[in-house]
Amino acid sequence: MPPSSAQPGKAATAAKPRRRRGEGQWALGYREPLNKNEENKKNDDGLNVRDRIVNVYSKAGFDSIDPADLRGRFRWFGLYTQRAPGIDGGKTAVLEPEELDDRYFMLRVRIDGGQLSAAQLRAVAEISRDYGRDTADITDRQNVQYHWIRVEDVPAIWDKLESVGLSTMEACGDTPRVILGCPLAGVAEQEVLDPTAQIEQVYEEHIGSPLYSNLPRKFKSSMSGCSVHCVNHEINDVAFVGVHNEAGEAGYDLFVGGGLSTNPMFAKRLGTFVRPDQVSEVWAGVCSIFRDYGFRRLRTRARIKFLIKEWGPEKFREVLEEKYLGYALPDGPAPELDPGVRRDHVGVHRQRDGKFYVGFAPKVGRVSGTSLLRIAEIAEEHGSDRIRTTADQKLVILDIEEDRVPSITAALESEDFQVNPSVFRRQTMACTGIEFCKLAIVETKGRAATLIDELEKRLPDFEEPVTINVNGCPNSCARIQVADIGLKGQLVMNEQGEQVEGYQIHLGGGMGLTQAFGKKIRGLKTTADDLPDYVERVLLRFQEQREEGEN
Ligand code: SF4
Repeated sequence: MPPSSAQPGKAATAAKPRRRRGEGQWALGYREPLNKNEENKKNDDGLNVRDRIVNVYSKAGFDSIDPADLRGRFRWFGLYTQRAPGIDGGKTAVLEPEELDDRYFMLRVRIDGGQLSAAQLRAVAEISRDYGRDTADITDRQNVQYHWIRVEDVPAIWDKLESVGLSTMEACGDTPRVILGCPLAGVAEQEVLDPTAQIEQVYEEHIGSPLYSNLPRKFKSSMSGCSVHCVNHEINDVAFVGVHNEAGEAGYDLFVGGGLSTNPMFAKRLGTFVRPDQVSEVWAGVCSIFRDYGFRRLRTRARIKFLIKEWGPEKFREVLEEKYLGYALPDGPAPELDPGVRRDHVGVHRQRDGKFYVGFAPKVGRVSGTSLLRIAEIAEEHGSDRIRTTADQKLVILDIEEDRVPSITAALESEDFQVNPSVFRRQTMACTGIEFCKLAIVETKGRAATLIDELEKRLPDFEEPVTINVNGCPNSCARIQVADIGLKGQLVMNEQGEQVEGYQIHLGGGMGLTQAFGKKIRGLKTTADDLPDYVERVLLRFQEQREEGEN
């Protein structure tokens, strides 16, 4: 019998159950690569490219680089080709990414836990000055990113980084990326526990291990021990968050599967209590599940959040305990959320040892080698050897005696590192954008800096901590989906009917107690030129119409 909905004139066929296509999960027997990325990874481990960079490519130059290394394995050591200068945004749609290649690289330095000594910061700064045309960005994953790097200089850069205990290993690629950690670890007043030892252990035991160098895609980790949640556990692939269990013991709650970009998802609690001495093996268990069961057929579905969506947190926990750990983890409490606390650590605040930390805001994370050198000097002149990067493109100097606070504040502000910035300087972030990123459609850092300047002039008394995040393409490197005002770069029509740079608007995103993905308002777009007018209108309307207590 044909189904009653069969269309007239079409041959009716019996509906066959459709066989589900496999997702390329290794643990289900799919060992043959299902796409080019998987093939490249199978052909050679990304970690092996280091020797070729040192011994071949840096000596023979850019043209000697094997394309599979250039556009694939280089990322395993933090290297991406940067966008060729002068490429017009309007042409992007018709060019393949490889046609946009420049002969220079972006290079990302991983700063696990965001922790730097003055000597480390000085080395990072000198590399920017000597090899990166004095450019550097503090990223929203606590890394430093350089531009204009030549392959000939990479071995010398690595030597310098390694001499101070830093590296670019697995800073990008289908690997366990930098481990985020609270910049105030060990000094925060309300800290449950300091995760530094656990971050170091995971780094030492697992980063650079061939066991985890072929994951389905990137794997982002965070560890934090206080109630401010400044490393955004909600949007990491795996996150350990400090809690006290019923017995008063300090350990971690475990979250898995957070991520933004396409199909954004907040991480799910597994409901377990993880003791500090178990963190490394639990991290390895979660990462191994991702390696073995993560989807590898389509890059767009290859993050751990898709597996969590299919399995649910209960099954994930069961597989973790039974198959990977070999023991059950006890149930544990959820972390507390501190309402109304800003996560960026900007300003002057007391540490629990009575000293002070000073957080400050470079504009949208853009710094230079010269200015980073000055920050190292200022820290040392004021008796500090501890500088921290934050997950909000900011910096913090720890351990300042109370009587030195006015002096360090003045020194930083004289370099335009504002300790008491406007809400706009403080709360605006921007990704790399078309200046250097080959995936970008529009410019971001410059536009965001102009937006900050304009809003500071137009709304000098505005104090509500509104977050404005600017992305250069549909990816979410600057977390547009969790901003109050998220701006997704795309080409839009101006009033004259011309295609120009602009942004799709997302409104009302947030984390913590206001956790939500911003709403994409259909058809609500602005040209880049009109951006300050648009944001000003939204903020004025909000001020006029807000209800009591509404953020
Ligand atoms: Fe590049 Fe897009 Fe990420 Fe911005 S959001 S850095 S444009 S990939």
